[in-house]
Amino acid sequence: YAAKATRMGQRIYSPDDDSNDEARLRTLHELRVGLAENQLVLHFQPKVHLATDTVPGVEALVRWNHPTKGLLYPGEFLDVAETGGLMRTLTRVVLELALDQAVIWQDQGRSITVAVNLSSRSLADYQLAGVVTGMLTARGLPGAALMLEVTEEFLLVDRHRARNILMRLREAGVLIAVDDFGTGYSSLAYLRDLPIDELKLDQSFVIPMLDDDRASALVASSIHLGHSLGMRIVAEGVETEEVLEQLTRFDCDVAQGYHLSRPIPAAELERWLDARAVLPAVVPAQG
Ligand code: C2E
Ligand code: MG
Ligand code: MG
Ligand code: MG
Repeated sequence: YAAKATRMGQRIYSPDDDSNDEARLRTLHELRVGLAENQLVLHFQPKVHLATDTVPGVEALVRWNHPTKGLLYPGEFLDVAETGGLMRTLTRVVLELALDQAVIWQDQGRSITVAVNLSSRSLADYQLAGVVTGMLTARGLPGAALMLEVTEEFLLVDRHRARNILMRLREAGVLIAVDDFGTGYSSLAYLRDLPIDELKLDQSFVIPMLDDDRASALVASSIHLGHSLGMRIVAEGVETEEVLEQLTRFDCDVAQGYHLSRPIPAAELERWLDARAVLPAVVPAQG
């Protein structure tokens, strides 16, 4: 009875619907409990600056340490959080965790900007800019300790509100990245008047760029576009050395991807950073 046929645009009843609704409701309930009981954790993925081989920042990616199902990835619960009205709470929990980690790294003498993802629904949160600046102040962190990654959708749902929020964050020194650049709306007008520090090229262009001339052309021209607007360009989804080398030839600024490191817990990231620091950056030439 799993058929999902439609008749005159109407879905035909299927017992699946009940069980899906039930599963979503259960997940929603469990997530509400999980948020209250600190079951969310962050993994961090480094962003590597190609010209200097340094790590100016990391991206915080949320995971849910579910009591029976193990570690869940955002694809398995963000949707439920969005539709179930838990996104605002989730965003604040992630911000607190990320900034607590930023304090630890600051105390260790590491200079790392932590990037947090904002869903487009966060635009509806009138207190967002104030909450973020309050969290920074409470920890004695400079604004530039935090970067917020927003999507093109976030910027275009309500341009006026988006601009307002971003300008207030910019005044506090917080950095702004456009995530999944190139996959959203086709208008580039927002690049003119929003305070954007970083463009993150979507992995769907980066992953196939060596075999696909069009993907490659989009990567190269996005790098030019971003540079001419004074923005830093990050390539996401760097899975091979060959792609990394091509991005370097294209004058891309920063790379992020499995080839460099998967997203990992903070302690593991610290070991990864320390291991890199003791390696010679360049093999000395012979003779
Ligand atoms: P994103 O912000 O575009 O993050 C990049 C995603 O690509 C991450 O998946 C990351 O693990 C994955 N990735 C990194 N390097 C590679 C690579 O070389 N190859 C491939 N194929 N994938 C790579 P993840 O962690 O499952 O997150 C998925 C999405 O969920 C994120 O996409 C972001 O939109 C959202 N997300 C994650 N954490 C949060 C959060 O705290 N709040 C909100 N609102 N959204 C979040
Ligand atoms: Mg992101
Ligand atoms: Mg992305
Ligand atoms: Mg993405």
